[in-house]
Amino acid sequence: MGIVTGAEYLKRMARLKSNVWMEGKRVECPLTDVEPFRSVLKAKGKLYDMVHDEQYASTLQGKDQKINFSYDIPRTKDDLVKRRKATQLWANETLGVLGRSPDYVNTMITVMAGAKKFFSEADPQFGENIDAIYKRAKEEDLTFTHTFVNPSISRKPFFPDGQGNEQPIATKIIEETEEGIIVDGARLLATQGGMTDELLVIPSAAFIDSDYLFGCTIPSDTEGLTFINRPPYKKESTFDSPLSSQFEEGDAIVVFDHVLIPWNRVFLYRNEWLMNDLFMKTGMESFLLYQAINRQIVKTEWLLGIAQALVTTLDIERHQHIQGKLGEMIIALEAMVGFVYSSEAQAEVNDYGIMVPKLESLKACASYYQMTYPRLIEIIQLLGASHFIAAPSEKDFASSIAPYLERFVKGEYVSAYDKFQLIQLARDMTMTEFGTRQLLYERYFYGDPVRVLSSLNGLYSKKKEELQMRISDFFEREK
Ligand SMILES: Cc1cc2nc3c(=O)[nH]c(=O)nc-3n(C[C@H](O)[C@H](O)[C@H](O)COP(=O)(O)OP(=O)(O)OC[C@H]3O[C@@H](n4cnc5c(N)ncnc54)[C@H](O)[C@@H]3O)c2cc1C
Repeated sequence: MGIVTGAEYLKRMARLKSNVWMEGKRVECPLTDVEPFRSVLKAKGKLYDMVHDEQYASTLQGKDQKINFSYDIPRTKDDLVKRRKATQLWANETLGVLGRSPDYVNTMITVMAGAKKFFSEADPQFGENIDAIYKRAKEEDLTFTHTFVNPSISRKPFFPDGQGNEQPIATKIIEETEEGIIVDGARLLATQGGMTDELLVIPSAAFIDSDYLFGCTIPSDTEGLTFINRPPYKKESTFDSPLSSQFEEGDAIVVFDHVLIPWNRVFLYRNEWLMNDLFMKTGMESFLLYQAINRQIVKTEWLLGIAQALVTTLDIERHQHIQGKLGEMIIALEAMVGFVYSSEAQAEVNDYGIMVPKLESLKACASYYQMTYPRLIEIIQLLGASHFIAAPSEKDFASSIAPYLERFVKGEYVSAYDKFQLIQLARDMTMTEFGTRQLLYERYFYGDPVRVLSSLNGLYSKKKEELQMRISDFFEREK
């Protein structure tokens, strides 16, 4: 098969029987018939159709094979450039707001399979397993979400159940059988949980002990798996809520109630060094960031576009501080682009023949964006001010009071309808529940900003030592 069309993808999603709960009820399958799943699945279907579109095919299909670009293993710097363009092309279709566009987790699977030998060193079967997972995903054009984080009740991995037993909180290996491992507990957090073909589970960085160490992929409708989705932010009107009406992904707690994971799905098992080296040695961390940052670049372009449209519509560009605020956004965009080019220019082939963009540049960029994104959102709020509050709805424009709106709240150069279409887009990006979740997402999806910054510091140890040496060299120079 290789590459699916939007219709084929949606047909497959309609067959998915995931156990998804939302607002106290099990969501009736097919998910393709139920909001908010229907809308976001449709948006993803459009991405798959783009892959077949002649004008995009050379970018969105594999270099030499009819596969999705995200399943191509990058071997050269040109491959990286192609990947960057493809991610940005897809991201542009969803304004950069879709965190789990399929290329995000697909890329992780691809890089892990490219580094098959890394897993084989621990156990040849692990290498075979990750390879088979990748080949099936590539062949069937599968989608994934992932869960990395343990629940954090009191930061303890288990609690007494009242009968003297310890009940796992974080998902724990409780039994080994001939068929596979049985795990019990919960993991956080799966964006689009239950609405992807499969779920990728990778051990949490917060290591507890080897009972919690396993890596696998399983179908989202595996028996015993429950996704507890948060209440949806989805709204109906594409005028009032242009983003939440189309791109509400959902986020779910994942419960593993005695779930059997077949051995052929496991690529990491009770192996601490494999887990410790997984992200850096394979190149997976670089690629995870490379995808995310290219998406964020596109999102920043949209933010700047929205800001400029607001400034023009509200006729406020003559003020110097407004120009300064747009200038701040331009700096953010240029910085992000620069970080990515730097990562490409300094890319190197790793032990497994994968061309890996420079992690330091990407990690610095990720940290920069965690700090900068809230400011970009604040700038848009400052530009729109009370226009975000005195914002009539689609129903107002369709009612008999519409002439008041065109008379009293139109823009200098645009109709009230056009003005508030833009205001609603800016509001949904920055102020609604959807927009606020976006803010939290950009701050946290890659991990706690405090610890990301601290790990960047650790990553830079060698370079910092060299720089420190320069100081003593300076003092030792002949005067
Ligand atoms: C919208 C959204 C979507 C997400 N989607 C996914 C997903 O699809 N898959 C996935 O695996 N994860 C996902 N995540 C989870 C993400 O990985 C975590 O949010 C992130 O790792 C931080 O963990 P936490 O939220 O448990 O925060 P916590 O670790 O509980 O931290 C809470 C606060 O306490 C502070 N803190 C806690 N411990 C320490 C410490 N040791 N040192 C210093 N400060 C500390 C933090 O700085 C922070 O301010 C998502 C998160 C969000 C917000």
